Amino acid sequence: MQLTTVGLMITLALRLLVVPLTAEAQPAGCAQDFPTEASLQAARTAIVAGGTDVALSPSGCLRYKRVFSGSILTREETRFDGQLVSAWDHAIQPLATFPSPFPPLPFMVASSSGIRDNDLDGFSELRSTIVRLIPLSTAGARQIHFQVEELAPGSQTVVQRRSSLYPGDGTVHVTVEAIVTGMLQVVRKFVAPANIKVATTSAGTRCNLSGPEMIVPCPGDLLTKVESIILTVGVNGGSCLRTAGLSAEADNVAQVASTLASSRDIILQCERGDTDRLAGINTSQVKDPMSPVLIAINLDCWDNASNSDREIIIFHELLHTLDNTFELQGWDHDPSLENLAENNNDRYRELDRIGACNSLCNNPSTTQCECATCLGKKACDAPCNSKAACFTSQIGGWCDCPNAKPPKHEWYDSINACAGACPSGTGCAFVLCKPEMNACK
Ligand SMILES: [Zn+2]
Repeated sequence: MQLTTVGLMITLALRLLVVPLTAEAQPAGCAQDFPTEASLQAARTAIVAGGTDVALSPSGCLRYKRVFSGSILTREETRFDGQLVSAWDHAIQPLATFPSPFPPLPFMVASSSGIRDNDLDGFSELRSTIVRLIPLSTAGARQIHFQVEELAPGSQTVVQRRSSLYPGDGTVHVTVEAIVTGMLQVVRKFVAPANIKVATTSAGTRCNLSGPEMIVPCPGDLLTKVESIILTVGVNGGSCLRTAGLSAEADNVAQVASTLASSRDIILQCERGDTDRLAGINTSQVKDPMSPVLIAINLDCWDNASNSDREIIIFHELLHTLDNTFELQGWDHDPSLENLAENNNDRYRELDRIGACNSLCNNPSTTQCECATCLGKKACDAPCNSKAACFTSQIGGWCDCPNAKPPKHEWYDSINACAGACPSGTGCAFVLCKPEMNACK
């Protein structure tokens, strides 16, 4: 008791000495106030207890705020040093009946609109909307429409728009618009599976596959372990992203980590056998802050994985929660690269932003092209130019024919092969091959 009191007094004395010196330099204090595992654990406890203004970092510079109307969550905010990093407003519309599908079905419409200031310059250049059509009978399928727009800070005009419609049939219909010759135009359109099939990582995990794909019961303690790893990754992965210059992404990963480990339900789906993945996540759920999240874990791989490999697996899945900002490489997997993911993982990681960032954060021999894809910088510029050489000197590219039926979106290992094949199909006139970005090859 005596010792505790003395300790407390010394602490207070030190604080009295320190506070006047740091009080005027609050931003400098915040410059080093990043989440720790203890601070995220404390945040998780506070959120579970109903906290509405929760510190994510030890000194509370990074905060997660919630606003409720009665028991309904209407707003979420993440702020760093008082400055808005991201926010969501949630609303439920009055009951409505939609004429399609026929016969008319009663749907509830719940929508969210979000903003994110990715470069923390005070202007939220990312605007998101989520519209969910939730059927009130079992006859209809739940439909979700996501839209992310990127606005130019100066003109505040839309320079990029990505729309993803999940019609409820296990697919996602993606349309990407970007500025082409001064106008916003559809540059990419494709249909992909709604559930992520391939979740490759740079981890050396060897899967001891037990046979064909099957869903099995999860071990009783797995959810607790996964939640704990999510918090660890919120810190370690976030720290890596911050060091790499992706501060807003780091803040958002920390916020998502603490809410995933507390207020948002995680539904684990355990698998064994040849599933084509170490783990997976439902993309429509994970980008929707109001949705529970399904995480699939292949126990044949997980059981063999080291703790650091498991962190790499979960970091990969957490990166899927981020909004897409790149036209070509976003925080989703490009379905045109699926074959490459299976046949040439080194090359795939240089083109897939999640694989690239995971490698940049966890692989000591990460390449310049991985660095460029993760950061949206050029491979030949700092900090990427200090990394290992790109896997190949060949330049690949995509051919997009959004007006073809069905819309085409294909990857070619070489830009020459792409150029030869690209502008020939129906609706593909004037389409040019898009080389892989920022490779400096
Ligand atoms: Zn993935």
